[in-house]
This record gives sequence, C-alpha cells and structure tokens, in this order.
Amino acid sequence: MTIAGGCRCGAVRYTLAIDALPPTYACHCHQCQRWSGSAFSQQAIVPEAAIAVTGPVAVYEKVTEDRTSTQRVCGTCHARIYNVNTRRPGLAVVRAGTLDRSEELECVAHIFTASKQRWLALPEGVPQWPQAPPAEALAALLGAKRPR
Ligand SMILES: [Zn+2]
Ligand SMILES: [Zn+2]
Repeated sequence: MTIAGGCRCGAVRYTLAIDALPPTYACHCHQCQRWSGSAFSQQAIVPEAAIAVTGPVAVYEKVTEDRTSTQRVCGTCHARIYNVNTRRPGLAVVRAGTLDRSEELECVAHIFTASKQRWLALPEGVPQWPQAPPAEALAALLGAKRPR
C-alpha cells in the first residue's frame, strides 16, 4: 500500500514509505489555530527520510528561542504539507489533512487542550494534555521512532 497525499491545488504530491496510515494527534494551541485557520491542527509524525515529495515546495522558517521550525508548503497554493524542527532531528510532522483517505485517520491524543475551542467535545478515553505532553508519552502513543 502506498500512503500518499498532496496540497489543495494538486501541484505538490508526496508519498510516505510506511505500511499504513499513521496515527495522528490534534494540537489545540493558539499557534496551530492561527496557522490552520481552524480549531486545531491534526498531525502525524513520520521519519523525515520516509517522505518523497514532488512539485514546487516553498520553505518557511519560523525561528523561536529554542528551535527553528522549517515548514514545507506548496509554492503555488501555500497549503502546509509538513515541517521539521531542530529539537526533533530526523522526524517530520505531516499535516494530516493533506493525506489522501484522511477520513480513515485515527486521532490518538489531544494536546494544548487549555486553549481548545469550547464548542468542541473530545471523545472520552482519548489521552489529552492541557499543555505540551511529555515527548515520550506522545511518541509512545504515535509509535514514532527516532531514526538512528
Ligand atoms: Zn498546491
Ligand atoms: Zn499547536
């Protein structure tokens, strides 16, 4: 099975060299709300080396005190595709809504729920954290492995 996705306009397409649709999590922080223009950002973490992209990718670097987040977006329609960040070398955060068959995705965790929009009711039993989760806890839920 090929896991594939792409941007809104179709100029950028990508494949993920993984066996199945990846588990995802939702981040409800204000930055993700602003960046997505929506209630939360839904994301999957995959090895950066597993991503193969075609099309006109543009790069946007967001530098903060302790990290640089390098965002890959479609150079035509500017849809965000994925990012890497200097605190998580080798891992990429894919915008899950860009995946084909996104309706089949599972969401296994909710983070930064302190700023969650109030109308949104989260399912019981899905782990959630009001702020950032411990990195190991989220990685365990996602089955994300740091490449060597
Ligand atoms: Zn596009
Ligand atoms: Zn966020």
